[in-house]
Amino acid sequence: MNTAPIALVTGASRGIGKAIAKELAKSGFIVYGTYAHNKAEADETCKEIQELGFQAQMFQVNVAHSEEITAFFDTVVKPAGTLHVLVNNAGITKDGLLLRMKDQDFDDVISVNLRGAFICAREAAKLMVKSRYGRIINISSIVGEMGNAGQVNYAAAKAGLLGMTKAMAKELASRSITVNAITPGFITTDMTKELTDDMREHYSKSIPLGRLGTVDDIAAAVVFLASAQASYITGQVLGINGGLYC
Ligand code: NAP
Repeated sequence: MNTAPIALVTGASRGIGKAIAKELAKSGFIVYGTYAHNKAEADETCKEIQELGFQAQMFQVNVAHSEEITAFFDTVVKPAGTLHVLVNNAGITKDGLLLRMKDQDFDDVISVNLRGAFICAREAAKLMVKSRYGRIINISSIVGEMGNAGQVNYAAAKAGLLGMTKAMAKELASRSITVNAITPGFITTDMTKELTDDMREHYSKSIPLGRLGTVDDIAAAVVFLASAQASYITGQVLGINGGLYC
């Protein structure tokens, strides 16, 4: 029987989630990663981790659909016994100014970034409560703290994630389950590749450390919060933004 602890990372096929999956696998977790659309990229990530000699599997679970999440927990996670770490990382943007933002664009962003995280956390907590151990890490955003023009939907979802983190932390503390949030600043991934060179330069100049962040900057913090050493940290929001919001 495999006794390594299990970490579930949503949106693990690309970007920040991929780096988190790799680093958790390197630190001894069996990683269950999820993706929504791009199987080829998910398979590639899985292969990269396995070729390094670590354990990972990828599953197609669209976190906007609660029935896909519950089916995944029923058929994959519960039979594995327990879950040690959940990283709610899957996220999307559908940007637009308030006056032109469609209801659907608001709902879609809330569904993936906030409601999806809530359902994953609820299902994970059912298992973690039984084993009286768990780490839930929610990937929010600096935008949830300071707002951003054109991202009313995304800012609402990411700010909601912060409130949810603190409430869950209070509910689950008595079972030794910690719940924390990370608020990345501007990180180089597909999500930020639409930035023009001018915008990139503008943002870099306004970041005290003088550069955009990397996916590894975020993954390193997740590995720490997921570790046994972080057992007295809960309900916290860790900004990783080069000093942009401090
Ligand atoms: P990304 O490169 O666009 O990757 C997004 C990941 O989420 C992909 O694996 C994608 O899988 C998955 N995903 C998208 N919709 C999904 C859904 N409905 N169900 C399940 N998985 C879904 O994004 P990223 O930049 O790495 O961002 C990761 C997280 O960090 C997000 O929550 C984002 O809001 C947050 N964040 C990012 C930045 C930044 O500057 N990049 C800053 C602050 C916070 P598919 O390819 O299969 O769709």
